[in-house]
Amino acid sequence: MASITLEDLAHSYHPKPRGEADFALKQVNHTWEDGHAYALLGPSGCGKTTLLNIMSGLLQPTRGRILFDERDVTAANTSERNIAQVFQFPVVYDTMTVGQNLAFPLRNRGMKADYIAGRVQRIAHMIGLEAHLQQKARGLTADLKQKISLGRGVVRDDVNAILFDEPLTVIDPHLKWELRTQLKSLHREFGHTMIYVTHDQTEALTFAEKVVVMHDGLVVQIGTPQELFDTPAHTFVGYFIGSPGMNFIPVSVEGNRAITNGKTVDLASNYGSPRGTTALGIRPEFVRLTKGAGLPVSIDHVRDVGRQKLVSATLFDAKINIVADAGVEIEADMTNVTFDPKKVSIFCDDWRVEGGPTGEVERGAS
Ligand code: ATP
Repeated sequence: MASITLEDLAHSYHPKPRGEADFALKQVNHTWEDGHAYALLGPSGCGKTTLLNIMSGLLQPTRGRILFDERDVTAANTSERNIAQVFQFPVVYDTMTVGQNLAFPLRNRGMKADYIAGRVQRIAHMIGLEAHLQQKARGLTADLKQKISLGRGVVRDDVNAILFDEPLTVIDPHLKWELRTQLKSLHREFGHTMIYVTHDQTEALTFAEKVVVMHDGLVVQIGTPQELFDTPAHTFVGYFIGSPGMNFIPVSVEGNRAITNGKTVDLASNYGSPRGTTALGIRPEFVRLTKGAGLPVSIDHVRDVGRQKLVSATLFDAKINIVADAGVEIEADMTNVTFDPKKVSIFCDDWRVEGGPTGEVERGAS
């Protein structure tokens, strides 16, 4: 097994790309550490599959290099890379039994019969296919067929990484949680590097130790679920993680004050005078409705969602969401909001700005 480094990786499907807009993958620098479980999270079309296919060798990148530890594998073919890939839709041999399907990658590599039998039995047990080992794959449900694909992905113990490209799309919703849990225990047991692609934040946050967030062909942040929630590096992460996502209010920033429509919000840090388009970000969980203090809002509607109330409101020209505990009465004279100062983020041209006590300003990763 090896760490996998992506160095200045970019890809365009255009034969003669003219500018950045022609690139599906704009520039990616990242190292997947050996043995970790990652999620690659981003909306449809942001370049996730392109990135996976470049790593497994199905696609040659327009620019950049891929290194396994120190070895440059950019020109190596798929079998030399030794990467297993599980796709969105099941890839199974219908005429073979479930057991033969699971054994296939091992037979292909000339493994010994004893080893194959033991390994197939163990994987089948772990993902709940034991009872089906002798059955032909033809005629099995889509769920079971995708379990076979997952099993084939994890059956080899000599792979450098296992890439899962939205593997639970065809799986029945109640089985998704079970399979995700099984994948996690396979990771714990075998310690392979696993990269799990999804556009679903719940899947990403529950599967991975580290989540790599992609947006428009770029990796915008790599972090634990908590880091993505607390300190989003980019407005996209703030908006994409959380339900509802972060609120953004256009402001001008002067030191430790943010100003919107002539009203001031005191900030916990000093941000100097950032140049560019600045916005204040605050998660709905850290907005409080008040009867006087803070910025003026008008409440548009209130939804009761069990343990919480979701309030939609208008703050000057911006729409904002507020999450209140179910026990909080939303009253007609609650006409203002305040923000928990420690939970306020400041963004400049969409990137997070770190404040400091003395006014120095650091720009987030870009
Ligand atoms: P999804 O979740 O929908 O699969 P994704 O994040 O995996 O999306 P990609 O499939 O990598 O995104 O696509 C990134 C961009 O590249 C998209 O604009 C897509 O239309 C384009 N693209 C993908 N494959 C090809 C191709 N074979 N030829 C031309 N353009 C492509």
